[in-house]
Amino acid sequence: MAETQRSDVIVLGAGLVGMTLALALEAGGLSVAMIDPADPAAQLAAGFDGRASAVSSSSWRMLEALGLGSSLGWQGDPIERIRVAEGTSGGALSFVPDLEGDGPLGLMFENRLLRTVLREACEARSGIRLLMPARAADVARDAAGVHVTLADGRSLTAPLLVAAEGRNSPMREAAGIKVARWRYDHSAIVTMLDHDKPHGNVAHEIFYPAGPFALLPLKGGHRSALVWSMKAEDAPAMVTLNARAFAAEAEKRSGGIVGTLTLTAPRSTYPLGFHHAAQIIAERLALIGDAAHGIHPIAGQGLNLGFRDAAALAEVLIEGARSGLDLGDPQLLARYQRWRSLDTLMVAGATDGLTRLFGVSGRAATAVRRFGLGVVERVSPLKAFFMAEARGESGALPRLLKGLPV
Ligand SMILES: Cc1cc2nc3c(=O)[nH]c(=O)nc-3n(C[C@H](O)[C@H](O)[C@H](O)COP(=O)(O)OP(=O)(O)OC[C@H]3O[C@@H](n4cnc5c(N)ncnc54)[C@H](O)[C@@H]3O)c2cc1C
Repeated sequence: MAETQRSDVIVLGAGLVGMTLALALEAGGLSVAMIDPADPAAQLAAGFDGRASAVSSSSWRMLEALGLGSSLGWQGDPIERIRVAEGTSGGALSFVPDLEGDGPLGLMFENRLLRTVLREACEARSGIRLLMPARAADVARDAAGVHVTLADGRSLTAPLLVAAEGRNSPMREAAGIKVARWRYDHSAIVTMLDHDKPHGNVAHEIFYPAGPFALLPLKGGHRSALVWSMKAEDAPAMVTLNARAFAAEAEKRSGGIVGTLTLTAPRSTYPLGFHHAAQIIAERLALIGDAAHGIHPIAGQGLNLGFRDAAALAEVLIEGARSGLDLGDPQLLARYQRWRSLDTLMVAGATDGLTRLFGVSGRAATAVRRFGLGVVERVSPLKAFFMAEARGESGALPRLLKGLPV
């Protein structure tokens, strides 16, 4: 019989969040076994994930601390301004860092590049065993520990299991964790475009009643990532439109802000929804990333929330290990849950509210939105709050409450 492999933590799911957690744990001296059923080569292929992500400045500092700054930094495009507009003729609001030295609001990365660099780093770290493709056929969690049997018969054990399996997390379901979820009846079409005017490192978010239209600056010439939300029933026709007609439709929605658009990548469609796990811990189990919560991409915060989960869980576990604690200790896990609850609920609630507010059509709703944009533009604590959120700085809410006139 094959020997049981022991590690400090077993992570199910080698997505962007799972890999980040593994690197953070390893940097703190813990050993990790990571299991993912996906074909590793297919996941790095050009057409696998056409998304690009806005990585907030706080997430970026974490990636740098994990030693990824030199391999990733030159591939990211700094977001120096976020321009939020109501259609192409309504009010607009600009978020610009206030002080010199504040740095950009975040960096735009193609997910494919993020995945490649994280994967290479995981493969290079001696404390991480990447088991991929591999499937957990049986998982047992009890007071003694976690025991995982893989479909090929190999067996693993650890004091803690982390589910980073994405939105449909089978482990979360198996643990019986309740999830609040709803669909927005919207899909996002994601692709990349070239344009004839420079993007000037500006992220554009233009709100239409059918859904937000975002053009996000990419490195390497006049290029942007497109995240275009629309009614789910309209997405199939838009995806099959010929490339030129699609680019012309997108250009119309952009108001010509970066000039003529040319499609340069395949289009993918993502159904949009919201989910939030009622708890992110159970016996010897912690959830992170989309396994714990999923939000509308309207504010580009989903991956950033996952990065913050990974950072918080790693810190709690590394401190626990230094104090000689069992890594599945319920008190340790409760600390992780307490730490993450407010941030995830706040960002999820704000994002859901924004999605609904900008999704309502009619003149009254338009007037409210324009009023809202005007208020945020004039009241500096509110503007500072939204900028801090874009940067991923936790604790922005208490500062906002302190700064607002009473
Ligand atoms: C259109 C769109 C645009 C977005 N833009 C942004 C943005 O700009 N900024 C931002 O912060 N966020 C953004 N997001 C959100 C972000 O993409 C997700 O939050 C993030 O990718 C979640 O990462 P994850 O690692 O938790 O999950 P996933 O990326 O889903 O990874 C899950 C991993 O688990 C594996 N897996 C699945 N089942 C199992 C199993 N049973 N056992 C083991 N492994 C398993 C999968 O193979 C996969 O590798 C966007 C989302 C969408 C839909």
